[in-house]
Amino acid sequence: MNQLNFMNHAADAIICLALDGTITYANHAASQLFDHPLSELTAAHYSTLIPRELDGELDMIRDTILFNEDLEPFVSEKITGKGDRIITSAQYSPVKNDDGKISGISVVLRKVNQFQKVANKAQAFIEAAPDAIIVVNQLGQIVLVNAQTGKLFGYKKEELLGKDVEILIPDEFLSNHRKHRFNYQKNPAFRSMGQGLELFGKNRDGNRFPVEISLSPLKTEDGIFYSAAIRDITERKKAERKFRGLLESAPDAMVIAGRDGKIQLVNAQVENIFGYERDELIGQPVEILIPPRFHKNHPSRRNGFFSNIKARPMATALDLSAVKKNGEEFPAEISLSPLETEEGMLVSAAIRDTSERKAAEKALHAYNFELKNKNKELEQFAYIASHDLQEPLRTVISLVDLLNKQYYNTLDDAAKQYLTYITQASDRMSDLIKALLDYSRIGRDKQIRKVDCNLLVTEIQTDLSSFISENHAIFNIAPLPTIKGYRTELRLLFQNLIHNAIKFRNKEKAPVISITSRQVDDFWEFCIADNGIGINPEFKHKIFKIFQRLHPKNIYEGTGIGLAHCQKIVDLHGGRIWVESTPGMSSSFYFSIPITL
Ligand code: ADP
Repeated sequence: MNQLNFMNHAADAIICLALDGTITYANHAASQLFDHPLSELTAAHYSTLIPRELDGELDMIRDTILFNEDLEPFVSEKITGKGDRIITSAQYSPVKNDDGKISGISVVLRKVNQFQKVANKAQAFIEAAPDAIIVVNQLGQIVLVNAQTGKLFGYKKEELLGKDVEILIPDEFLSNHRKHRFNYQKNPAFRSMGQGLELFGKNRDGNRFPVEISLSPLKTEDGIFYSAAIRDITERKKAERKFRGLLESAPDAMVIAGRDGKIQLVNAQVENIFGYERDELIGQPVEILIPPRFHKNHPSRRNGFFSNIKARPMATALDLSAVKKNGEEFPAEISLSPLETEEGMLVSAAIRDTSERKAAEKALHAYNFELKNKNKELEQFAYIASHDLQEPLRTVISLVDLLNKQYYNTLDDAAKQYLTYITQASDRMSDLIKALLDYSRIGRDKQIRKVDCNLLVTEIQTDLSSFISENHAIFNIAPLPTIKGYRTELRLLFQNLIHNAIKFRNKEKAPVISITSRQVDDFWEFCIADNGIGINPEFKHKIFKIFQRLHPKNIYEGTGIGLAHCQKIVDLHGGRIWVESTPGMSSSFYFSIPITL
């Protein structure tokens, strides 16, 4: 049997093409397959056997063969002489002349009921998959899809079968996609597509959406197919955007690193604080942000964090040092928290530059120290001054006393008058000096005790009993708490306020004084309210200053030191004192004392 005879009797259809696509030879099996009389078939052009939508196929085949590249057998549709569509698996090979030059193409074709075949095998399997799954042949035509694909892209299954896979790809990615597809076909293996790139699908309405795609080759007896699992990641992208938004809006520098200590994500604050660009940090070990002298121990600490995550679910703030790109170190407060992600456990570190706070704390400390010293000096001064002033004053008073006793009758009226003034002035001076001494003594005996305020007020009422009855004062006293504080000072505080409440009474009516207390957060808040003359709002603060009075002493007795005492006592306890008043009607003095002292 010669060669042509052999080909004529072959079971597969065999066709030879010139490079321009005209058919130069066809065997019997080809005539049968394409339902064409042999004479017609050998006079036809190969493109008449190819469906119109695949008109690029012949060019692709010729190009591949001319470039001496291998072409695996592949499956595609063909048109018969009667216009029916058949599916064939075709193997194309170069035909070379005696010089070894390619002069034509031989095609060996076999009819396959391939869609059905592959579909039956794989359909059940891929329908169960959560992702959209598409199987394409070597020409990029879709041969199989699952229901998810239809849903995701908005097509009916049948509308996709036989179509170019590129109908699911946004236009701007088309040219790249073709290139990638041919590259992938040369070197097919399982892999996820577009690592580091954003991939998009296009649905029937032309709208694009972000996707994640994994590819794998599928070897079958009919040649290689490619399957793509496609996942819509719109939601994930949204969540990612939200997360990034949150990250960017965080007031602290945020660094997110993996178990391997490599930085995966940073926010803008990191760039601001550390002076690096993002790109310079991503993928670098976190130690880049830590002063070199801590590098040795850091990896083991990091591992410690990961192995101890459950025991420390909350962020723990640590006082550490960090280093900028320019080598400058700064004190930093760092809170670490675990971050569970799809890629495993990460750690997020919130880093706060505390240089300013540390400097402010230091300054405040120094200022406080200075203030305390100054206060002590002042108290000392007031104490010594008032103590030493008493001596000469006593002498003046006793001499005035002598004058009064022994020489009063020898004096004329004017001298008597002067002597009375001197007596009054020195008595007043004595009162002032005593008050000043008391003031400087407040808090000297620092002993915190439990003080029952009910008892305290009863004692004060006893002490002031004659003053109370003279003024016909009426008391409404609510049950008061037992508090912690300096007993003598607290007594003076209550006494001054009660005394004032009676003293600054409205002359027209009997003084009514109510004493109440309540708990406000961590403080006891007391109120001593009266129905007296009230205080003009503009003097609300002035009255707590030492020797500040609003009335001449011939109208209301006093030294102007009582409320200064009160202020000092409340300060000593860490509380607050203030007044609320309706002038001419009432005053309410409030003070607060911390519950725990
Ligand atoms: P003093 O009572 O010796 O004048 P304080 O320091 O106790 O000094 O009071 C300062 C001023 O505050 C008083 O002179 C008075 O004008 C005003 N004041 C104090 N308590 C009352 C009150 N309960 N009602 C009206 N005014 C008051």
